[in-house]
Amino acid sequence: MTCLEAQSNIMAFIEKKLPDDVIPDFVKHMRYCKNCREELEIYYTLIVGMHQVDNNQELSQNFAKDLENELNRLEHRVKQAKRFKFSTFGLVFGVAVVFLFFVYNQCLDKVYNIEQRMKLEAQGDTYFYDTFGSEMSVCLNDIVQEVQIAQKPKESTFYEKLREYQLTHPESEETESDE
Ligand SMILES: [Zn+2]
Repeated sequence: MTCLEAQSNIMAFIEKKLPDDVIPDFVKHMRYCKNCREELEIYYTLIVGMHQVDNNQELSQNFAKDLENELNRLEHRVKQAKRFKFSTFGLVFGVAVVFLFFVYNQCLDKVYNIEQRMKLEAQGDTYFYDTFGSEMSVCLNDIVQEVQIAQKPKESTFYEKLREYQLTHPESEETESDE
């Protein structure tokens, strides 16, 4: 901030209408520039003093101290606002990160599920076994039992078979015995 800019803001400062974005530079300039500080003190004493007289207020004993207090007050207020802005930003940023992480995890889960489903579908039988497993095993048991029941009598009755053969071919036995 140049001296011209600083001095053009003196009236706004005294009337407490200094914009927040100008305050830090203005306060800094008034701390380090002797000329502008003198100018500010003169205007401050004149205008604030006149205001106090106009309103029948008790005249300040130390305008320089009042001015310093006012500069400190403004500086502190801007810093507070900045800190609040930063913490708000931090909070929003933090929430955004957590949210994105959550969404990312959800996406990973979805991709994993889709991959698993694709694998299961590729395996065909296994996929259906998951859904119809119990019915399928019952079916298989029944078929095995049916087959066993159907096969058992044929194997056990060897002599019955032999008799059956003899009954259907009675001549062959007779001719064999003759010779
Ligand atoms: Zn200056």
